[in-house]
Amino acid sequence: MPASPDVVILGGGVIGLTSAYFLARAGVSVHVYDRGDLGREASWAGAGIVPPGHPDRAATPADRLRGIGSARFPELSAELRTLTGVDNGYRRCGALEFLSPDDSDVVDLWRAEAIAFERLTVAESRALEPLGTVEGEPYLLPGCAQVRNPWHLRALIAACERAGVALRPGVGADGWEFTDARVTGVRLSSGAVVRAGNYLLATGAWSKPLLQPLGHTPHVYPVRGQIAAVRGAAGSRVLMMGKRYIVPRGDGLTLIGSTEEPEAGFENRTTPEGIGGLVAFAQAVLRFANGPIVEASWSGLRPGSPDGLPYLGPVPGTDRVFVAAGHFRAGVQLSVGTAQVVTELLTGRPPCVELRPFALDRRPGANAKTAFRS
Ligand SMILES: Cc1cc2nc3c(=O)[nH]c(=O)nc-3n(C[C@H](O)[C@H](O)[C@H](O)COP(=O)(O)OP(=O)(O)OC[C@H]3O[C@@H](n4cnc5c(N)ncnc54)[C@H](O)[C@@H]3O)c2cc1C
Repeated sequence: MPASPDVVILGGGVIGLTSAYFLARAGVSVHVYDRGDLGREASWAGAGIVPPGHPDRAATPADRLRGIGSARFPELSAELRTLTGVDNGYRRCGALEFLSPDDSDVVDLWRAEAIAFERLTVAESRALEPLGTVEGEPYLLPGCAQVRNPWHLRALIAACERAGVALRPGVGADGWEFTDARVTGVRLSSGAVVRAGNYLLATGAWSKPLLQPLGHTPHVYPVRGQIAAVRGAAGSRVLMMGKRYIVPRGDGLTLIGSTEEPEAGFENRTTPEGIGGLVAFAQAVLRFANGPIVEASWSGLRPGSPDGLPYLGPVPGTDRVFVAAGHFRAGVQLSVGTAQVVTELLTGRPPCVELRPFALDRRPGANAKTAFRS
């Protein structure tokens, strides 16, 4: 293992680990530092919905990143399984999305992107899934998929190890070493300084303190999300209703998500109100023979940004520091496209998406309507 690798990645969530694996596959030597355990923050807590998309038909760079995820998750999952023996639970389970009449432009976005969908009646949706009370107009999305986050992270960690990535859990970054105003290393919590050809900041909701010394104060902030895992519901497709969703795992466990609580700050815990609200939602939407049995509940801190888009690309004012953080509600689905862009940037190739909308110094505009909100 080289003492000074080509790339040091700070943060071992789905963004840092996928980037590390893609870089290592491209022949780049990589070290990943995480101040905690690898893959135990937002990436572990998420529901793993991977909505459909078509990169070549995408209207925006963000849609293109999602489309790359939709298109490449099957082959990545197969590759990880072959390499590591770990199944990440990826499967194209399909979804029912319930839209309000105000959401007709969402359907236009799907149509423009050639996403397969079918408008159903409520009766037809009930014939597909055992539904209770639902609001809105049901649409069948056969291309929607899901991955099991803890399994996917386990597969990524094992794949990184196989590919020669040096993984350093329990060692955080405290700041930067500067020489003549140029970044020349990262100061680690161990007291050591590590130097590399390039640095990638993938520290999720905790990115601000590492960006400030580089002259940037983007609003990356934690947005707590809680999830309840219940038993006792049938059903096979993801159900999406605005920002709430139901994800049947296929083994009797059903995830009910999620709250969106920016006011909780960095307080990463479940609350009786949060989980109670999710269980009530599940009780209304699903049919249970004996009521939902809550088997587990957890929370995670999404890395929020003012316009919901990630920060992705070079850090202006530096020549060797890059950022991939702030993926908010979509870090798993955007992880493959993000890792592809990171690999292109760090191996001197033009990025496959336009990076201006993801620039650290962008002025966030009004939130554009997105094709998927869950
Ligand atoms: C309840 C919930 C449901 C979700 N559902 C979905 C979904 O269905 N589909 C989807 O695509 N996305 C979903 N998301 C969003 C997704 O999980 C996140 O966008 C994604 O996990 C962000 O990944 P990340 O690697 O940037 O952050 P994280 O996973 O938070 O990783 C950041 C890492 O950086 C480390 N770190 C922090 N500070 C330092 C430091 N100074 N030095 C070194 N390491 C540091 C942390 O320990 C952590 O491991 C959901 C999120 C939540 C919470």
